[in-house]
Amino acid sequence: MGRVIVSNHPLIRHKLSLLRSTATEPKKFRELIRELAILLAYEATADLGVRESSVQTPLASTVGYELTDKVGLVPILRAGLGMVEGIWEMMPAAEVWHIGLYRDHRTLQPVQYYNKLPVHPTVQVCLILDPMLATGGSAVATAEVLKRWGAKRIKFVGIIGAPEGVGRLSKAHPDVDIHLAAVDDHLTPEPSQPGDPPPGYIVPGLGDAGDRQFGTG
Ligand code: URA
Repeated sequence: MGRVIVSNHPLIRHKLSLLRSTATEPKKFRELIRELAILLAYEATADLGVRESSVQTPLASTVGYELTDKVGLVPILRAGLGMVEGIWEMMPAAEVWHIGLYRDHRTLQPVQYYNKLPVHPTVQVCLILDPMLATGGSAVATAEVLKRWGAKRIKFVGIIGAPEGVGRLSKAHPDVDIHLAAVDDHLTPEPSQPGDPPPGYIVPGLGDAGDRQFGTG
């Protein structure tokens, strides 16, 4: 099974609670997604490669470091988009590759509708970005697409996971580390009566991460 790293950093726990709240409006929600993405990516990139280089300060020459791993950010559309910008500011040399998948609401299976990856891999480490690891279908499919492309090191960076999605991703791709702010209780089941929530939502979760970012709920 893959490694599942759930951060217990106080900043992450505080921001996650604000993110969950129904009182949080889309503007604040987007800011929190951005900030949480930076903090989680900071932890997820702790093992990036560096090489020594020499740096000249105003006073002396000293040892410096340069990143050797090129990072690819792979947001799963559309909710993953809000996680890109903040991480990209921290790593301006990162490449951003979009893979469009939607979840068929009937089958809950991922359907790919957009993929512009170049023929050969151009990065050493891929970070799959999606705030919600619910059933795990999109994450598993994205990791498969990246592996077929030739990606060697893949990490998943999300915000909330459900036990079902975490289990499915780590079973299908044991080499993919999963970084999250929380693992919640369960997924909503098939509705049994009118008014029940749709299936496959994380409970307690935060609702629909795409709708809450883009104000479309
Ligand atoms: N996608 C969301 O946006 N929220 C969930 O709870 C599950 C999937």
